Amino acid sequence: MKLIKTKAIFLAAGLIALPLSGCSQNAAENSNNDTTLTGNPKENPAAFTFKKDPVTVNAFKLDTYISISAYEDIDESYLYDTLALCDRYEEMFSMHKEGGALYNLNEGTTDKVPSELGRVMETALKWSQSSDGAFQISVGRVTELWDFTSGSHVIPSDNEIKSALKTVDDTKISLSPSDSEEGAAYTVSMPEGTKIDLGAVAKGYIADKLKEDLISRGITSAVINLGGNVLCVGDKNGDPFNIGIRKPFAGDTDMITVLKLKDCSAVSSGISERYFEENGRIYHHIINPRTGYPYENELWQSTVITKDSLTGDILSTLCYALGTDKALELAKNTPDTEVILVKDDLSLVTSDGANDLMK
Ligand code: AMP
Ligand code: MG
Repeated sequence: MKLIKTKAIFLAAGLIALPLSGCSQNAAENSNNDTTLTGNPKENPAAFTFKKDPVTVNAFKLDTYISISAYEDIDESYLYDTLALCDRYEEMFSMHKEGGALYNLNEGTTDKVPSELGRVMETALKWSQSSDGAFQISVGRVTELWDFTSGSHVIPSDNEIKSALKTVDDTKISLSPSDSEEGAAYTVSMPEGTKIDLGAVAKGYIADKLKEDLISRGITSAVINLGGNVLCVGDKNGDPFNIGIRKPFAGDTDMITVLKLKDCSAVSSGISERYFEENGRIYHHIINPRTGYPYENELWQSTVITKDSLTGDILSTLCYALGTDKALELAKNTPDTEVILVKDDLSLVTSDGANDLMK
């Protein structure tokens, strides 16, 4: 496996100034210094949210630190009700929650999934089809071998990887709506032994559902942060929210740039989120489904700005997997989508409209 540089070379970021598309732009100077960071929080959730006035609740759920900050005159308990939704969705989308919907599908104990899970899978498969194999939710057997969630840091053997790779093929998965006693559901057909991993997808969907819930309960100004999956609800009294993009491999509050966003999503994917080093190499959690090993490219991180967070989550992982040129092309060809890439020399490469979103 090729080496990925483990030491950052700090260079001035080269940004491209081009017209805005997609999300709302900062129209005026913003005096508020509250900043939410996209990128992975590793230790203390309080280190990632600089509170000024908002009511903020924090929790550890979905295997990460999450928070909701609402700029409303409400009691914290109001936000805890929304946070609690994460538990229901974690049960549905997790590969590891025994008895959960995805777990049962992966174990082969059923071929039926609830309609929400089915629809999320359909969306992911749609992007997978246009990714030329770079993004595949059927990568579960391989990610299970690498086991980044447990932190065991074991490099699987070539034989284990080879055998797991035989089960990875999104083109062999199909979903059809079917009526069940519990209501609408999907029947999933996939080759025996295949395991679906929605780690690149689920947090985005869950963020969208939390936003829906907040709006349905009258919240118009808030920031949802699910471990760096940031989703803005409205704006801050007309001002945009400050969303910092974390500098890979740097201190928890170090930002490489700050975005000013209104009512949209910013999601980061990268190699500094879950990784370990062995013999000078970095092994990280975004797997090349063609080789079964972590991607090796010139990128350390990709951040995608979209309207909804499900698309943002899928595309941030996909853009990382595609590498610089194809990621930029994807952003260009996808409406309301901007991408900010951090290369392994810490330089930034951005899509046409992204620069207008930066501070
Ligand atoms: P994210 O943090 O959203 O970029 O997603 C990374 C997670 O997606 C990993 O931890 C795996 O669970 C899963 N994953 C890894 N490689 C791939 C891939 N090539 N396609 C789809 N999902 C992947
Ligand atoms: Mg993702």
